[in-house]
Amino acid sequence: MKPKIKWTPQRLAILKYLDGNKAHPSAEDIYADLSKDFPTMSVATVYNVLEFLKRTGRVKEIHIDPEKRRFDPDTTAHHHAICVKCKKVFDIFEDIKIPELSSNIPEFQILDAHLTIYVLCPRCQNKEDLKLGLKEYQCTDCGAIRTAKHKPQKCPSCGSRDSLREIKPL
Ligand code: ZN
Ligand code: MN
Repeated sequence: MKPKIKWTPQRLAILKYLDGNKAHPSAEDIYADLSKDFPTMSVATVYNVLEFLKRTGRVKEIHIDPEKRRFDPDTTAHHHAICVKCKKVFDIFEDIKIPELSSNIPEFQILDAHLTIYVLCPRCQNKEDLKLGLKEYQCTDCGAIRTAKHKPQKCPSCGSRDSLREIKPL
């Protein structure tokens, strides 16, 4: 018997969310984005739908992020790279050959090989963007550098008030 699922509005919303989605979201990401519109949605619902989509070949689980299970609606063969800083997962559609592999382990029949590539993405190679909206502030009294979204009132190192100045990136 084929697995069945009842297409409730929230389950359809998950399906629609995943359609063409390049972010390789986790169940928690999907839940975080959709639960505002569907207050009765639970993470379990999201997992339930993802498992169904997986079983029916409409979504692939990718094992690249040690922190969370991520899902890809693009089930065509491709590799992934994960940025170690921003944790974005990138598609690599190039057919990367591993020519040495079968000669390295000749006693095995290789069925599938998947590359997990760890990168610093172009944005994260740029120091300014690395902080994703964060700014650097330096204390004019003690010289301590603090990274924060908004200017701290007090220097966390020496306790001086109003002593922090933003360091403008070059
Ligand atoms: Zn990055
Ligand atoms: Mn992908």
